[in-house]
Amino acid sequence: MAGGAGYVTVIGLEVHAQLLTRTKMFCRCPAAFGEEPNTMVCPVCLGLPGALPSVNREAVSMAVRLGLALGCVIERESAFARKNYFYPDAPRNYQISMYDRPLCTGGSLVFEDEGTEVNVRLERIHLEDDAGKLLHGRGGHSLIDFNRCGVPLAEIVTRPEIHSPRQASLFLRRLRQMLRYLEICDGNLEEGSMRVDVNVSLRRTGDDALGTRTEIKNLNSFKAVEAGLEVEIKRQRDELESGGTIVQVTSLWDAREKKLVTMRSKERAHDYRYFPEPDLPLLIIGEGWIEEERAKIPELPLDRERRFRREYGLPAYDAGVLTAESDIADYYEETANLTGEPKTSANWVMRDVLRELKSTGGDIGGFPAGPAALAGLIDLVKGGVVSNSAGADVFAAMIESGESAADAVKRLGLECISEVNELEEIVDRVLESKPDEVERYHRGKKQLMKFFVGQVMKESGGKADPLIVSGILRRKLGE
Ligand SMILES: [Zn+2]
Repeated sequence: MAGGAGYVTVIGLEVHAQLLTRTKMFCRCPAAFGEEPNTMVCPVCLGLPGALPSVNREAVSMAVRLGLALGCVIERESAFARKNYFYPDAPRNYQISMYDRPLCTGGSLVFEDEGTEVNVRLERIHLEDDAGKLLHGRGGHSLIDFNRCGVPLAEIVTRPEIHSPRQASLFLRRLRQMLRYLEICDGNLEEGSMRVDVNVSLRRTGDDALGTRTEIKNLNSFKAVEAGLEVEIKRQRDELESGGTIVQVTSLWDAREKKLVTMRSKERAHDYRYFPEPDLPLLIIGEGWIEEERAKIPELPLDRERRFRREYGLPAYDAGVLTAESDIADYYEETANLTGEPKTSANWVMRDVLRELKSTGGDIGGFPAGPAALAGLIDLVKGGVVSNSAGADVFAAMIESGESAADAVKRLGLECISEVNELEEIVDRVLESKPDEVERYHRGKKQLMKFFVGQVMKESGGKADPLIVSGILRRKLGE
């Protein structure tokens, strides 16, 4: 385990996921991004005196779905609480969150770490609203955009059961995948729709007591999470080994300088003077509502990955790649079912489709060659109409023009020349035009076979099958 000799690393995560609701958590303002600053606001999300919040049902539904997918207990009664603090981006001077009665408790998330299954238990999931956004340095001023104020967040808190920076990153990748499968958060770390705070401490091996933990914020990529943790773990170990003590602090990760900047000493829960939110009643969730949400949960990533291995006989690697995003998995399944060739289909999707998406930055929804088109091409290659290498050109043409595989093959004239008569004529022509090479071949220079195959391939415009060609050549050259 990371942390070096003599220490066990103990990491806990707090993840804020912006929920993809149409409106905000406690008012009807649109929860939209990229709008003119301070246009998506109302007295409730601006915290004006006397404005009363009401709970967004859609946000609760999404959090319940997440809780069910992660195996949490959905609490039949939960309560909102005020978390008091002053900051310019929080106009009410408190955040409406949940404290001692969260919506979901328990649960866990499973991921694989170098072939070993790791199960990290969760503490809780609760709902709260987001703060506004501070824009610093505009003409020497700091400006505030309140559009984000009140956007619903689900906060997912793990138990301190993660034992290396790599595991932290793997956990987060799996969680992001779950959020995207459930279509409740787009999981964009760079843009802040999924935000991660980590806490880390070192415990001496064999010691039961946890060490003092520190917190890192501002980790806006999986890489940053790993790098920030590596730096902090090393710092703590050096401190402990030189006989020092760890002070409870919160740091910010500076991705450019690759270092931690101490922000403040960490607040404790009692600093926030939590108390029950008097403007909202208890959140009561009946069995019917829970069953309604359960019915909306799609097949989850790990289940789908395992089914792909079982049903299509795919290697673990392929199954993992193909189920990373649910729409890619849908695309693959449709293709495989149409062709009846699961492994060949997997190769085409992983190699050609994903490479194309990566290079264009597009998504599969707008991909010009749908599953039926790709299946058509795979059928042509399988049937020997197109050679494997010409297949790649046909695919490129299909994406370019949006035409079917058969049309692209005809337009480009890429049908395989498998008519032996036609090939024999080409072979004869080539041999006649190269008498010197033929003579040298007969005197023992057998490497010239490659040259002849190349000449025939060139003559055929790349449409011949090299295996058939060398067979004909051997026969004609008297072997
Ligand atoms: Zn509002």
